[in-house]
Amino acid sequence: MGFVEDKRFLKYGARSLFFDRFGGVSSAPFESLNVGFNVGDAEENVRENLDRVKSFASASKLGLLNQIHSNKIVEYDGTIHNADGFYTNKRGVFLGIRFADCLPVILMDVKNKIVMALHAGWKGTFLEISKKGIEILKKYGAETDNILASIGPHICGNCYEVKDDVASKFDDRFVLKKKKGLYLDLEKANIAQLISVGVLKKNINSLGICTYENRAFFSYRRDGVCGRNIGGIVIE
Ligand SMILES: [Zn+2]
Repeated sequence: MGFVEDKRFLKYGARSLFFDRFGGVSSAPFESLNVGFNVGDAEENVRENLDRVKSFASASKLGLLNQIHSNKIVEYDGTIHNADGFYTNKRGVFLGIRFADCLPVILMDVKNKIVMALHAGWKGTFLEISKKGIEILKKYGAETDNILASIGPHICGNCYEVKDDVASKFDDRFVLKKKKGLYLDLEKANIAQLISVGVLKKNINSLGICTYENRAFFSYRRDGVCGRNIGGIVIE
């Protein structure tokens, strides 16, 4: 079971981990750490994989969402909501986002010790879920200087080809025009949202991993039928 970690959170008593596709029990085409229930894998395999994630993260609870490509963000309460973001100040809860190309955003108000995890595909990005996440943290008293943001593995702006109907919804700054077509940069768009509501550029970090290019991660665009990756944050 491999993972990448944004180690900046360690200093504030939290861990943000993104797991690669290895170290689970699922077989092809879900080999092996698939955490998606609705992709065709056996439920018992997914449950075992999720258990492994939970214990690796040393979490007492693994929070999950039924992600629906919205901008809905809820407070973690131990149940699975139809939403694309959640937050908590409870220790030991790993807020997990499931993805296979979509962009996970991790936020932490390091002063008030609130963590948040978001799922931003093109729809969530269009609905400005990152901006909304920051607004919620502010409602709980966050000052933007104290917010750390992390961008997890996702399909990069050089690989994410979109049709004109999607591209036209976004500012030109986020769309790359190549000979072959149009490419949407989800990372740039979400970073712009974070900055627009006051998050400091120096507090935003991307892990710089493209799921489409890096075969250690599931990529829906590359593989079609495949598993889902997981990543998130836990307050220790
Ligand atoms: Zn790429």
